[in-house]
Amino acid sequence: MEKRRVYMDYAATTPMKKEVLDAMLPYYNDLFGNASSVHAFGREVKGCLDEARDQVAKLINAQSSEIYFTGGGSEADNWAIKGVAFANKEKGNHIITTKIEHHAVLHTCEYLEKHHGFEITYLDVDSEGRIDLEELKNSITDKTILISVMFANNEIGTVEPIKEIGQIAKERGVLFHTDGVQAIGNVHIDVKDLGVDLMAMSAHKIYGPKGVGALYIRKGVKLHSIVHGGAQEKRRRAGTENMAGIVGFGKAAEIARVNLNENIKRLTELKERLINGVLEKIPYTRVNGSLDHRLPGNTSFCFEFIEGESLLLSLDMMGIAGSSGSACTSGSLDPSHVLMAIGLKHEIAHGSLRLSLGYKNTEEDVDYVLEALPKIVDRLRQMSPLYEKVAKGGNE
Ligand SMILES: *Cc1c(COP(=O)(O)O)cnc(C)c1O
Repeated sequence: MEKRRVYMDYAATTPMKKEVLDAMLPYYNDLFGNASSVHAFGREVKGCLDEARDQVAKLINAQSSEIYFTGGGSEADNWAIKGVAFANKEKGNHIITTKIEHHAVLHTCEYLEKHHGFEITYLDVDSEGRIDLEELKNSITDKTILISVMFANNEIGTVEPIKEIGQIAKERGVLFHTDGVQAIGNVHIDVKDLGVDLMAMSAHKIYGPKGVGALYIRKGVKLHSIVHGGAQEKRRRAGTENMAGIVGFGKAAEIARVNLNENIKRLTELKERLINGVLEKIPYTRVNGSLDHRLPGNTSFCFEFIEGESLLLSLDMMGIAGSSGSACTSGSLDPSHVLMAIGLKHEIAHGSLRLSLGYKNTEEDVDYVLEALPKIVDRLRQMSPLYEKVAKGGNE
């Protein structure tokens, strides 16, 4: 088998598209002005902010004036949650979120709980990673000020019932934030139709640059700022604008919007080929997450009797880049909080592998993985005393 280099970790980050880089480069030298300056150097870069805002807004059917640029997805999540919490302290101190959120949401909620007297409800999810809408309704009290449920999960790819949550939030007069970082560019999103009040986004998951993101803030939603200083972003988020980053994000958002249908179709086909192939070729394997409500490019498996970490290393030696658990938890021995929340036992969760697909992946890549992975899993299992027992048991 000829060795290939196969990147299947697009949920961790993506390479920038060439058009994105080309759009950004002038802003590092020729167009270096500060948009707040009155002189020509400042004036000539001001317009690109509006254009990028427009491009991002269009991807999610927001108004341009409802998009606020940030230093990434994590900052946008922090802003939405802390901003709403601090602005609504008089009204109530209760926030509802889920057990499967990204740490940018979970750790922000834990901080508010520990240091600012907020009460947080962490909703359970079912075995596919979806929340229960009845449990959500029953969790809302007259002290609830915010519901924060991610649009789509970064580990297992499950897409949550966002429109239904939006409806419940509206009926009960509670604000609704969703972490849309994994969803934009992969799912059709219309924030107006979905009843979303706030949504976090990030550029580097959609072939844009790292360190830039945005928060959608529905017109009329009140929240405190968390970055104080200058008057940028209509006085809501201080700091000299990351012009190149913002321009790159805008370009990436435009490409994502134009390519959305084709991207969904292509990735869905590759994903199905990969999932079906793995299940066919590798026994004692499960697929994590929902098959019906799933990101087009996400696959997540658990292979019994092996360790995800050794699997990743072996795959890496074959040129295949995947991930096990989330980047933040790997390195620690705790299994992923998401896999725990869907009810997996520790020993099963330890054998997890996420292969997330993106625009450079081809059928040949998938077939290469389908050839390499069964051999690696089998070799690792041969070293497991537990597997030996089970395999022998089967032969008797
Ligand atoms: C990557 C990611 C984030 C963090 O975004 P950054 O731009 O890397 O800070 C937040 N939420 C989800 C679901 C993510 O996948």
